[in-house]
Amino acid sequence: MRHPVGSAVERETLARLGILDAICGADQGFASENPATGKVLAHVRRATGADFQAALDAARAAFPRWRDVPAPRRGAMVRALGEALRRHKDALGTLIALETGKIKAEGDGEVQEMIDIADFAVGLSRQLYGRTMASERLRHRMYEQWLPLGPVGVITAFNFPAAVWAWNALIAAVCGDSVVWKPSPKAPLTALAVHRLACAAAQQHDADGIFGLLLADGQETGRAMVADARLPLISFTGSSAVGRDVAQAVAGRFGRCLLECSGNNAVIVDETADLDLALRAILFGAVGTAGQRCTTTRRLLLQETVYDEFVARLVAAYGEVCVGDPLLASTLMGPLIDEAARSAFVAAVAEAEACGGQVLYGGRLLAGPGWFVRPTLVAAENHWPVVQRETFAPILYVMRWRDFGTALALNNAVPQGLSSALFSRDLRRAEAFLAAAGSDCGIANLNLGTSGAEIGGAFGGEKDSGGGREAGSDAWRAYMRRQTVTINWGADLPLAQGIEFLPRSES
Ligand code: NAD
Repeated sequence: MRHPVGSAVERETLARLGILDAICGADQGFASENPATGKVLAHVRRATGADFQAALDAARAAFPRWRDVPAPRRGAMVRALGEALRRHKDALGTLIALETGKIKAEGDGEVQEMIDIADFAVGLSRQLYGRTMASERLRHRMYEQWLPLGPVGVITAFNFPAAVWAWNALIAAVCGDSVVWKPSPKAPLTALAVHRLACAAAQQHDADGIFGLLLADGQETGRAMVADARLPLISFTGSSAVGRDVAQAVAGRFGRCLLECSGNNAVIVDETADLDLALRAILFGAVGTAGQRCTTTRRLLLQETVYDEFVARLVAAYGEVCVGDPLLASTLMGPLIDEAARSAFVAAVAEAEACGGQVLYGGRLLAGPGWFVRPTLVAAENHWPVVQRETFAPILYVMRWRDFGTALALNNAVPQGLSSALFSRDLRRAEAFLAAAGSDCGIANLNLGTSGAEIGGAFGGEKDSGGGREAGSDAWRAYMRRQTVTINWGADLPLAQGIEFLPRSES
């Protein structure tokens, strides 16, 4: 028997997205929960081993057809999907809020990000440029071309259950690749809804089979994808611990990996900063998405001359944050994703306190139902193990510095290297932050916070954050194979580097 979908808004949202039919009984699948209520939203069918083989076969069968479609026509398919996303933005934004607990404005923002990347991909479909090189040999021409790579495996995290797929799949699609997606088991309904829209757009453009979906709640399906040489590229978004295993397994079969892993992002504020601006950015960066973004601000590095004033203002601002139902317009922070996340929050606060940390605000759970906590500020030190790792919760560790060199060193003194920010009006400090000896992160922001990237830039981080780059700039190249072509249009055969290689009779 199907589990009845709980509230009217839940039922209506699934109906608007056309996925009511896809839900199944508890005995046939696994549950998607609403973290704001702690209750089951619906059950979805779990992919079997046979489903895995079928998805790979379909992606492999679709690939040779799709790669022969001219790239601008592939772009037309992505344009149709972008239009469908525009039409379904409200419903999909609501579903994301219901399933992940992020507030409705952020759910809608996630869909907007998908629309933005669709627009970007459409333009890109006419710009998959290669270079022409000057050959050293007479009457030779050299150039490089970019060719479709093959079926791409996309494994995604729960916190951006739709946008990360779009970053990958829409760029991969204009590059001529098919895609097999294994979303997080914590957000399968969003994946179902997105997949349905994607398949409809593909069908309208004779591209059946280019988008595959595998819903699974264990590690088995992800591991099988990672191990399978039929997927020449694995794009993995998730924790550094899993990413490390994925990287090793894919490298072992000479596959290609795109890794988007954990962050531990700092904001530096100096005494010249516009403190109003800094306050708003830090509040959004640390509290937004309940601290469950890879780019969440986790460390605040304050010049000691502004420490007391800024902490007092921050504590007051935290007191104004409305925590509650993600669908209410007044709510700024929803719940954590599940009970395990809430336990990790409790454990991290306790560990920080055991190290000597002082809780400046929050540190407590909110009475249930749902997995709510208070946004939390802790005076801490950078070298504590709890500060060195990413706890996926709204805990901001606050630290002080005297000289700017120390601030830069603290920014970089963590295993992760995803996002970073400086608030300053001092030109020398700003340039030092952006220089080679400055921030070691993939993202460096001046006078804006660590989270909320635009799709036009290449997104990703260094060190334990994985080294991958997705979305804008030239990130598309990861989804194609590069071929260097040399053409000899002369009557001689000169060798590169001037090598003479002739039989004695001809010399
Ligand atoms: P997670 O590592 O638990 O899971 C990520 C995905 O990997 C899920 O789909 C999961 O089912 C799958 N998976 C689990 N074990 C696997 C295995 N052995 N082989 C293959 N796949 C496996 O991460 P999460 O809790 O869903 O997401 C939070 C993490 O993701 C945080 O660390 C966050 O920083 C990171 N994240 C990074 C980015 C980025 O762009 N850098 C974006 C979003 C989230």
